[in-house]
Amino acid sequence: MPPESLSCKECRTTYPLEARYVCEQCFGPLEVNYAPRTDADPDALRRRIQAGPHSLWRYSDFLPVSAPPKGTLAAGWTPLLRVDRLAEALGLEEVWIKNDAANPTHSFKDRVVSVAMARARELGFQTIACASTGNLANAVAAHAAAAGLESFVFVPADLEEQKVLATGVYGTNLVSVKGTYDDVNRLCTELSAEHEWAFVNINLRPYYSQGSKTLAFETAEQLGWTMPDAIVYPTGVRPATPIVNTLPTTTTLAESPTLIANETGFPDLIVPAGMTKDGLPVTISFFGPAFSEGKLISYGYDFEQATHARRLPVHTPALAGDTITIP
Ligand SMILES: [Zn+2]
Repeated sequence: MPPESLSCKECRTTYPLEARYVCEQCFGPLEVNYAPRTDADPDALRRRIQAGPHSLWRYSDFLPVSAPPKGTLAAGWTPLLRVDRLAEALGLEEVWIKNDAANPTHSFKDRVVSVAMARARELGFQTIACASTGNLANAVAAHAAAAGLESFVFVPADLEEQKVLATGVYGTNLVSVKGTYDDVNRLCTELSAEHEWAFVNINLRPYYSQGSKTLAFETAEQLGWTMPDAIVYPTGVRPATPIVNTLPTTTTLAESPTLIANETGFPDLIVPAGMTKDGLPVTISFFGPAFSEGKLISYGYDFEQATHARRLPVHTPALAGDTITIP
């Protein structure tokens, strides 16, 4: 199912599949459009996916590239671990943890960078860049090094030394900017207009954000093409949006899973997850420090409340490229 065009999420104006992220008509964000699927045989699609590589490129039919890239770091296809003792402690029948720390630079940013970089190479870019506060910098530096491309990573000057070191070992051009992350982002936006550089989270953003949905596809496939009753996911990161939008459409199951956000800070992302009666987002800490200490700590709400969160409709219409239909 090849990608067809970029289109504005607001006014639907379409653009060619180039390094572009904002609508010229209304300044709305752009997203990738795919041709409608024509799979006559969903079973054949399942077999093709299952015979694919042990990386996110097994879903290349659903990603915005002409062909899976060769000779790059393999992100995705991370373990889904059944954790019975945690389930018992929580009073739940079954709990699984998707361990995205098994990615090449130990975070889910490897997914989005893989996809953005593959598209950047197809577009002929020789330099890969990003604005980051840590994990993204790592992923860009590592994936660029593996592909033999030059990279520039822009970070706030007060970034922790450990993060700077971790990124530096990949031999990137690390640029420390005096200012906040927003200042770094603004600088990178200006630079993307001046240089022929692929900023993965700026001018390549429509492609970049597509990498996130592979997390949902993998979860469904690893559970035998079913979805769990509820999913707890991190929302402190904007690329979580496609995860939220993708989950309910990943399978043909009538019931979409309840989505539980685990961080505050981006209320626009928390909306589809669950709200309390007084309209506040349900938030629990599941993957953070509280989890490693062996107990769950909620930020304002207890787990009982979170698991009974009201399911809200997901307003974003599903795109052809975001839906795998498996019988
Ligand atoms: Zn527009």
